[in-house]
Amino acid sequence: MTCRQLGGACDIEFRAQTFEQMAELSRNHGMKMFQEHDGAHIRAMEEMMEMTKNPDQMKNWHESRKKEFDSLPDELS
Ligand SMILES: [Zn+2]
Repeated sequence: MTCRQLGGACDIEFRAQTFEQMAELSRNHGMKMFQEHDGAHIRAMEEMMEMTKNPDQMKNWHESRKKEFDSLPDELS
């Protein structure tokens, strides 16, 4: 899945066996871009932070991302 698919701001691809690993890769990448003061990623992270204030919205978002991950063919995940 790409950074963008996971709520980020670029098209870098992450590959992982599980959604949890995928989320971890995305988070690490987001932190790195944040530290490099990448404006697009900072905005994306702010939007994510905003969403964490609303547990229902966060849960829905997480579930739909996970569904997307689960629907990917293995070679693309
Ligand atoms: Zn990115």
